[in-house]
Amino acid sequence: MAIIVQKYGGTSVGDAERIRRVAARVVETYQTGNQVAVIVSAMGGETDGLVALARELGGAEPLAREYDVLLSTGEQKTIALLAMAIDQLGVPARSFTGIQAGIRTDGDHQRARILEIDSGRIQGVLDAGIVAVIAGFQGHDDDGNITTLGRGGSDTTAVAVAAAIGADVCEIYTDVDGIFTTDPRVVPNARKLERISYDEMIELASLGARVLQTRSARFAMRYKVPLHVRSSFHSETGTWVVSEEEVMERLVVSGVTYNRDEAKIRVPGVKDHPGVAARVFTPLSEAGIVVDMIIQNVSHDGTTDLTFSVAREGYERAMAIAQSAADEIGAAPVEGDTDIAKVSIVGLGMKDHAGVAAKMFQVLADEGINIQLISTSEIKVSVVIAERYTELAVRALHAAFVDDGAAEPTPEV
Ligand code: ADP
Ligand code: ASP
Ligand code: MG
Repeated sequence: MAIIVQKYGGTSVGDAERIRRVAARVVETYQTGNQVAVIVSAMGGETDGLVALARELGGAEPLAREYDVLLSTGEQKTIALLAMAIDQLGVPARSFTGIQAGIRTDGDHQRARILEIDSGRIQGVLDAGIVAVIAGFQGHDDDGNITTLGRGGSDTTAVAVAAAIGADVCEIYTDVDGIFTTDPRVVPNARKLERISYDEMIELASLGARVLQTRSARFAMRYKVPLHVRSSFHSETGTWVVSEEEVMERLVVSGVTYNRDEAKIRVPGVKDHPGVAARVFTPLSEAGIVVDMIIQNVSHDGTTDLTFSVAREGYERAMAIAQSAADEIGAAPVEGDTDIAKVSIVGLGMKDHAGVAAKMFQVLADEGINIQLISTSEIKVSVVIAERYTELAVRALHAAFVDDGAAEPTPEV
């Protein structure tokens, strides 16, 4: 007997017929003699609809506590419906909201972190031969308030529950066949990967591949939860997310991603002497604004430009803070640009290969795409470009690094 966690995303539970199909798969897994805990998302489009309603009635910044009470209803609907559908197939099932499942988080509404799972109740239900159907994306803080985990958070619920109950596998059922070399909706000939390392998956997710929430991949790595990302529409093997040692082929580039959720801020005319960068970035970090990429130009006449990127969500606030810092240090008026996208390539094999970044820049140059910001790590290179070139850049990079065989396994070094 194995302990299996299955997570079904919004499209997979999008209507009654699909919920019925999910129920059938859960029952099949249960009847082969396994304990099954199921995590579900809200039905496709439901969370977006709730967000729109909150904006309509709650203003530009709806009350954080009530926002989470509202958003959590999407998942609450799905757990009840799926438990009913499983019961109709003759297998006992019980639904649990985040609070009922013992998912304790911090109190940071809309982006709460799971601190601990008191899995006693879920464990008891599983031991009694009942399927546990748990609402993804939600938990409770120490004051008993409902919290939500950020968009895509059901993935993190699934991995955290899997870690808490010692599951043998956490299966993420979604609307694509696994993890691809890039978003298959942008590049139709993207290739499905058999395996990918936790590190690569964390990079891909944080750089925009929304197929998994970044925190879920981090959790999986920390607690060594084997993840299997696969289609909810058929039963073929998907992609295994595993430790680096278990990845057979160390691809130079295993994925190309894009992210349109950033904005760029430029502080021109900054006096080039010690301490000015700190005076710009300290107030930003004190306000909880995460700065992603930074570039400082060569100085002319003793002044320089500081350019950086932030999440588009906090852009207006970041602009205001940067402006007041600029005023204090006597810089010129700040300039903002939301018309940008970040495009990245990720691969373990980059560790053993020189010239990957240079090749990336050449590929973009050949398409006439200007690079505005650059950042690199051991296994990724990211560039910021004008948003209108996003798809062109993703296709060109995929063609150059994946289709052209550069994704061949790196020879042992
Ligand atoms: P779910 O509702 O099941 O959580 P999501 O919409 O959150 O599904 O994530 C699945 C989507 O992620 C796919 O439909 C696909 O368009 C997108 N995606 C982006 N990058 C990738 C990638 N590298 N591999 C697979 N899917 C990707
Ligand atoms: N329903 C939430 C969302 O749409 C959580 C999830 O689907 O993972 O973001
Ligand atoms: Mg998702």
